[in-house]
Amino acid sequence: MTPRVGLGTDVHPIEPGRPCWIAGLHWDGVDGCAGHSDGDVAAHALCDALLSAAGLGDLGAVFGNGDPRWSGATGIALLAEVRRRVREAGYTLGNAAVQVIGNAPKIGKRRAEAERVLSDAAGGPVSVSGTTSDGLGLTGRGEGLAAIATALLTEPS
Ligand code: MG
Repeated sequence: MTPRVGLGTDVHPIEPGRPCWIAGLHWDGVDGCAGHSDGDVAAHALCDALLSAAGLGDLGAVFGNGDPRWSGATGIALLAEVRRRVREAGYTLGNAAVQVIGNAPKIGKRRAEAERVLSDAAGGPVSVSGTTSDGLGLTGRGEGLAAIATALLTEPS
């Protein structure tokens, strides 16, 4: 069995008043991310990590072709489709990890819930963590949210 690693990052601007969907969860009272999707940077970074590990390109290549089926799709729906494609390509998810970088939401408060939702969508164990950038940069100023993810896939020997 040959392991294959992949990585993904995502950044979205925060839009005051927009519903916040991060790691597949709705975060009440937190400003969400702008974008033509739900702005779920955690789910999007995980998608890219899985696609990267499988050698299947990236979110833009897979979903950015104007296919109306995916316009406005939730991050979780995209992740479930990525899971399907990764499996179709013969890979199994060993595990994945995603870290959300920003002032809010506070991921640790709902870590178990986020891990359950993302693991279900990804088809394997996903660890979720959060951090701030100590007031620095776009995440520190509250202008945006970022996420970075890794994934480990195995292919049949
Ligand atoms: Mg995105």
